[in-house]
Amino acid sequence: MRTPIVAGNWKMHKTWEEAVQFTNEVKEGVPTVDEVETVVCAPALFLKEMVDLTTDSSLAIGAQTMHEEEQGAFTGEISPVALQNIGVRYVIIGHSERREMFNETDKSVNKKVHAAFKHGLIPIICCGETLSEYENQETKEVVTFQVDAALHGIKREEVKNVVIAYEPIWAIGTGKSSRAKEANETCRTIRTALAQQFGDDVAKQVRLLYGGSVKPDNMKSFMEQDQIDGALVGGASLEADSFLQLVEVAK
Ligand code: 13P
Repeated sequence: MRTPIVAGNWKMHKTWEEAVQFTNEVKEGVPTVDEVETVVCAPALFLKEMVDLTTDSSLAIGAQTMHEEEQGAFTGEISPVALQNIGVRYVIIGHSERREMFNETDKSVNKKVHAAFKHGLIPIICCGETLSEYENQETKEVVTFQVDAALHGIKREEVKNVVIAYEPIWAIGTGKSSRAKEANETCRTIRTALAQQFGDDVAKQVRLLYGGSVKPDNMKSFMEQDQIDGALVGGASLEADSFLQLVEVAK
């Protein structure tokens, strides 16, 4: 069966001292990776320190984005080579905030997914519809298109290691999460799309996460769904206590 994942996305929060404190508080409380995989995707500035603090822990450290090129004149960007070099394991790719505010496209997302695999990083690929797409009942079409585009040209043996986070944009940071059953149906659509492209046995292995106003008190409703294998969590991943509560529910 698929091992659940609880991944925190800190976005642009925390100082270095707060990042270190969180890591020290959480690193001993997380279960082994065969029970629940736990990941914290922190601002790039803190990654090396957090990786070093967690060498003897199951807590994995992830980046929130990266550039698709290995090196070059890309002021301010972060290379996949550098991420791998410091021991980062996961990278969020194509978060809706990156798509909306930093011009990421389905094409650049696809390039980044290729780069992630080339450099041994596990991509957490984000997809999800806007409020108007939701209201127009275009969710299934939108996520299928995004997932197909993100995985274009990726080999089957790599696709099974991909993590896909379904995050309806209208549910992010709004306190208004999707209904668990509805999110489950969207995840089923994603899995069907994966099966069509890469075969059933690959699709069955891909972990699908829900994201958007996940909190300790609604986490259970998502974890009960047959297509949802965990959560990508913003606000509720910022405090050690609440992160560990989410992990507890995912067990
Ligand atoms: P919130 O959990 O704060 O809604 O954020 C979700 C998210 O964007 C995670 O990537």
